[in-house]
Amino acid sequence: MKLKDKVCIVTGAASGIGNAIAHRYASEGAKVAIADLNIDAAQKAADDITARFGTAALAIAMDVTSEEQVNAGVQHVIDAWGGVDVLVSNAGIQIVNPLENFAFADWKKMLAIHLDGAFLTSKAVLPHMYAKGSGSIIFMGSVHSKEASPLKSAYVTAKHGLLGLARVIAKEGGARGVRSNVICPGFVRTPLVDKQIPEQARELGISEEEVVRKVMLGQTVDGEFTTVDDIAEVALFFAAFETNALTGQSLVASHGWFME
Ligand code: NAD
Repeated sequence: MKLKDKVCIVTGAASGIGNAIAHRYASEGAKVAIADLNIDAAQKAADDITARFGTAALAIAMDVTSEEQVNAGVQHVIDAWGGVDVLVSNAGIQIVNPLENFAFADWKKMLAIHLDGAFLTSKAVLPHMYAKGSGSIIFMGSVHSKEASPLKSAYVTAKHGLLGLARVIAKEGGARGVRSNVICPGFVRTPLVDKQIPEQARELGISEEEVVRKVMLGQTVDGEFTTVDDIAEVALFFAAFETNALTGQSLVASHGWFME
């Protein structure tokens, strides 16, 4: 039980990677808050966690781009469980388009979800972590925190930005027991990826099968997708690691697509 009674907030945990992280944390004894735009799916995930692991789970309606909703959601967790030990800022979307066609509104939406979301959730949990003298903040980056791809200007920019934010939090939080790290997954088969396969095929003028084989998995060592369980395992490692030896870091899990 690596996270026994730890209070963990996972944003975007109603689906995909965040959902797997919430389940993995609960399996290690954590109390998990599922914070998501989609409150029905979040409630389903929370009910499933309680049924499977017998641990407390909360569904929190939260748009991570709204300061009011983020603060209210974190306060809800504090009122219920008295503190917060782990934040996984994971909520995200993808919009693909060549830069010359990229709508300014889409650019702002992407930066708001990925960067404002990371900033606002971190800002809301930090006072509680500092009060306790410990905490772990984990950002969901991407191979696109380190590498560029065409059509993904806003995503690549935002994911690179998370590395900077994590390093600043690591420096500000170090003396107060708060660590901050970034997980950088390769392609994981979630709704976020399924949606972009036909979009990329259209934009690049290739088949959907080629998008998967060449664009998504072409640079991996074995042609395989990373899985939500792979990423949940990395998220557990960062959450349960107990000292400042591991802070301000990023870890790529991508079947060798990107090697540091
Ligand atoms: P997903 O679409 O399965 O899940 C994303 C979740 O975020 C959904 O439940 C959605 O409702 C929620 N969400 C979206 N906007 C939100 C908002 N404004 N406020 C609160 N919740 C919001 O996607 P996923 O693939 O699990 O992606 C999760 C994270 O992992 C994202 O940050 C994504 O960029 C990152 N990532 C994904 C991959 C991949 O290949 N799937 C690779 C690298 C990084």
